[in-house]
Amino acid sequence: MEKSNIPFYLSFAGVAGIVFFLVLERFVPFRRVSLPQWQRWLINFSLSFCNLLIVDQSFVVLLQRTPIFSEIFHFDLYGRLGLGSFWRVVLTILILDFAMYVWHRINHAVPFLWRFHRVHHSDPHVDVTTASRFHFGEVTLSAVINYALMLSLGASIWEVRIFKLIFVFMTQLTHSNIRLFKPLENLIRLIFVLPSMHRIHHSDIRRETDSNYGTIFSIWDRLFATFTKDTDSQKLHFGLKEFQDSKELTLPKLIIMPLKRVGREPRQGRGK
Ligand SMILES: [Zn+2]
Repeated sequence: MEKSNIPFYLSFAGVAGIVFFLVLERFVPFRRVSLPQWQRWLINFSLSFCNLLIVDQSFVVLLQRTPIFSEIFHFDLYGRLGLGSFWRVVLTILILDFAMYVWHRINHAVPFLWRFHRVHHSDPHVDVTTASRFHFGEVTLSAVINYALMLSLGASIWEVRIFKLIFVFMTQLTHSNIRLFKPLENLIRLIFVLPSMHRIHHSDIRRETDSNYGTIFSIWDRLFATFTKDTDSQKLHFGLKEFQDSKELTLPKLIIMPLKRVGREPRQGRGK
């Protein structure tokens, strides 16, 4: 058995992705930022480090060593269908990405889950480091869903790792503060999620926040009518209206944020 739950190449790819997009953000930014971002970066990376220790290196390892969990969810759909390796990889990417789309929508719809997910949305600016800003409560629940699905499908650890590699890359790309060539972007966006699409999801207007949930494929948002094509990028304001004060966005405050009873603005949001 491997010592670490996250193999070296996945950690390396994660760090390499952050460095790559930080460089791109410097040369082709979507929005120029005048103030230093070190404080935000430190908070986002600290949350990511918590997730690595608490979830990936502890909770998931424990989950994998719990036989009752494997017994309940072991369905092995691929094995029953006798699928070859190509279709197993393709289906794993499609099914897990769709599951994450559904899970993301549930996080916005269920008030208890939103308490955790709003930590991610509370970032007052969106760049590649926002892709690391998740509360460990949310990451723990995601890990349970992912593992249960892996067992139900009968996907191998390597098939799931291929999905994870693409998923992490796309999460970093879609949060990046980069400007892309518009005609090419419009074409790619027909199938894949790009920063211009996910940026709208980080708007502080609720009807925009509750749209564009996808991570890899944009088809789920189009199929289930949660797609917002464009918004006025000049007026686009990131973060949450209920958490504007920077004193509420320190690391300790973000860790206890799920305990706070703070209501969301009505679905209609502010008018344009
Ligand atoms: Zn969200």
